[in-house]
Amino acid sequence: MFKDTGTIDDASILLNLTDYRVITVTQEPDGRQALVEPIETEAACPTCGALTSRIQARPEHRIKDLPIGGSDLQVVVRKRRLACQEVACPRRSFVQTTEQLPFRARLTTRLSQKLVDEMSCELRAVSRVASAHQVSWPTVMARVNMVGELVGNVDRMFIRGLGIDEHRFRKVRYARGRTGKVIRIEPWSIVFTDLDTGKILDIVDGRRGAAVKTWLKSRPRYWRQRVQYVAIDMSAEFRKAVRENLPKAKISVDHFHVIQRANLMITQVRRRRSHEVLQRRGRVADPAYKYRKLLTCNLENLSIRQVERLKLILESDPELGVIYGIKEHVRELLKTRDIHDFQSRWAVLEKSVKATKMVEAKSLFRTLTAWRRELLVFIRTRLTNARSEAANLTAKNLKRIGRGYRNHDHYRVRILTLLCLSSRNCNLFSHR
Ligand SMILES: [Zn+2]
Repeated sequence: MFKDTGTIDDASILLNLTDYRVITVTQEPDGRQALVEPIETEAACPTCGALTSRIQARPEHRIKDLPIGGSDLQVVVRKRRLACQEVACPRRSFVQTTEQLPFRARLTTRLSQKLVDEMSCELRAVSRVASAHQVSWPTVMARVNMVGELVGNVDRMFIRGLGIDEHRFRKVRYARGRTGKVIRIEPWSIVFTDLDTGKILDIVDGRRGAAVKTWLKSRPRYWRQRVQYVAIDMSAEFRKAVRENLPKAKISVDHFHVIQRANLMITQVRRRRSHEVLQRRGRVADPAYKYRKLLTCNLENLSIRQVERLKLILESDPELGVIYGIKEHVRELLKTRDIHDFQSRWAVLEKSVKATKMVEAKSLFRTLTAWRRELLVFIRTRLTNARSEAANLTAKNLKRIGRGYRNHDHYRVRILTLLCLSSRNCNLFSHR
């Protein structure tokens, strides 16, 4: 029977390591061992480029590869140290490299790719991936850092809409510094997102406007010129930082935060009234306290029974009724879609606030007046930070799976690689 001896052998097909041929497979006491060598016998000198096949030495190295038929297969590669035969070349010899095993690599490229894929496509702890592939934690993290450097380059991205949001990634801690003084460690991070795609651009430590300012300042001028819209929550510090560094951008304020502010006003009035009428804080026996959640819910989401309860509360205290009406005016204001509607709703709100003597309502109106320009941008564009809130949830889940991160850089790079690569299949380790 004819058998073509020029074709690749069965063991090499099983191992499927590109550019390598299996020489022997043996059963050792601690597992199977495959000895492989590069198929190509000739290679170009990295200094002069001359081809050579003169072997100087055959060093053997144990490498890490994907598990094949169980995890007990050890791969040993018999490399070729080739001598450069070019007389004028200063290099005497060099080790032949391949795509799967670049210079000094102890892991095959396909294993590196697998590690990055597993880290970027699902929420997994670094230690889990490391133990599954029998490599160390720093080995996995080094690969993640490499990818993070590639995908984390914000300056090369075209950003039209920028979202700035703060999020807390752990509890406030107090630690003793090197000088022995106790320092407070802020667990807040500022998250920058692309409003068009919802992708996280960067995560910065801190929660003040100074952190935003520093980050924006370190972007190149052309990058800052291209940003047209910025969505922020009602933080005057953030607004100042954006106005100073992104002069062309229009700022939009999130309506969630405006509603939140209006709900805070209702709570303040409810507490104050309890002290005025009953000379004590609210108790379960007081309907206004027991059903306090109804005051901050949207009316249209309540059941018939809940609406009846709400009516009872509002009728029992005229001040609560008035303040509830003002909150509804604010909601109507945010529902508008053009400037004319906005202005007429604004006038209604202003009239009702002026009619009351409540300081809480006046305070809210002062805040809204200070943010009127940003509210108008929101009415016209409907730009919100909702997408970055979704990304924050992923970041929080990641933190839980990793049981917390002590190193902010590791945390940052994990989020960036996870959210950037999960949607597409990147072949970052391919050299071809
Ligand atoms: Zn050479």
